[in-house]
Amino acid sequence: MRLSVASLALAASAALPALAADPVALHCERLFDARSGKVLGEHTIVVEDGRIRSLLPGRAKLPDGTASIVLAGRTCLPGWTDLHVHMGGQSSPQSYSEGFRLDPVDYAYRSVGYAKKTLLAGFTSVRDLGGEVSPHLRDAINQGLVEGPRIFAAGKSIATTGGHADPTNGHNSMLSHLIGPPGPTEGVINSVDDARQAVRQRYKDGSDVIKITATGGVLSYAKSGDAPQFTLEEIRAIVDTAKDYGYSVAAHAHGTEGMKRAVEAGVTSIEHGTHMTDEVMRLMKQHGTWYVPTIYAGRFVAEKAKIDGYFPEIVRPKAARIGAQIQETAGRAYRGGVKIAFGTDQGVGPHGDNAREFVYMVEAGIPAAYALQSATLHAAQVLGLDDQGVIEEGRRADIIALPGDPVADIEAVLGVDFVMKDGVVYRTPERE
Ligand SMILES: [Zn+2]
Repeated sequence: MRLSVASLALAASAALPALAADPVALHCERLFDARSGKVLGEHTIVVEDGRIRSLLPGRAKLPDGTASIVLAGRTCLPGWTDLHVHMGGQSSPQSYSEGFRLDPVDYAYRSVGYAKKTLLAGFTSVRDLGGEVSPHLRDAINQGLVEGPRIFAAGKSIATTGGHADPTNGHNSMLSHLIGPPGPTEGVINSVDDARQAVRQRYKDGSDVIKITATGGVLSYAKSGDAPQFTLEEIRAIVDTAKDYGYSVAAHAHGTEGMKRAVEAGVTSIEHGTHMTDEVMRLMKQHGTWYVPTIYAGRFVAEKAKIDGYFPEIVRPKAARIGAQIQETAGRAYRGGVKIAFGTDQGVGPHGDNAREFVYMVEAGIPAAYALQSATLHAAQVLGLDDQGVIEEGRRADIIALPGDPVADIEAVLGVDFVMKDGVVYRTPERE
């Protein structure tokens, strides 16, 4: 399946390989160096067997018969990573009632389209922070059955009773009585023992990373968007158990107290970080905690909160208030020296429009080069991987290209027209 995708995409050019394992030379007019954040001049990238075999300056002369793809006028970059998506859904006014009508299979079919859109927009990796679909979608993509980004999946998020990601929030008493209270298996904990069990259950379910909802959230059917929802001891138990399995922990947090507890307990990243104070920033720098702002989701929900009936009334004021704040926080965190990595929370907003987050980051006062590093070098560091996020010899051949120079004009990120993942071409300018 992967081979036929490659040969289809490459068929447009002459003398191209039928197999992705054959060497291919990419001639890039410019190259984004994710380590320095600089846009360099012309380079040739030789790809073989899914890896970058060599990176040569200029239009390198290669042995006769080497297939080549000329990316004239384009900047090549490492494939981007979105560290915060939910591939299993996309919010709409119907989302709340769909939870009672749709089967898991319905969400799985939807995710196939979302995965392809995400990949074709230049995102060769994503971290899926919550949803039962994602570990299965990850496997289908890895097996070549579905086209999509490499997925690092949390599976079901871990919450506390009534908290953000308690799957029974908003249910009436009849339904609650029938289902019974959710527990660690369903991702709801209320003690240190539950916390350990919930992490071990995620391991059993095939998760790659642990996600917790350290405070209330915007879209849950609950009143508070920022109250702390775990004790410090519970988060510590999650982080410590996660370490046993080599997992990092991502913490959703809007409110200050929940953020402090998560950082002190040793989570890897704070997601959203809406009410981040100077004290929290200090703590994050001290602990080396990453910040994944998700400005896109904030702007999206604040905009939709203006529309009558789009959200339930219990959600609407949270969407208006918290949503509007995140972009300002992102700029402040950058100036405060907090390490920032890229995430959109897509699945709130539309899958495939992920690159707009770069534009929002630059609007917030983050330099374009740093924004691009946040989705390449930094994202790989958050994932604990050294084989992606940079275009260097021996790394995975995850390479994208776009017309123009995104450091000079950030809007260029919206024009990706070449996508290679693991050496397989999924999109070329010729195919447009
Ligand atoms: Zn999210």
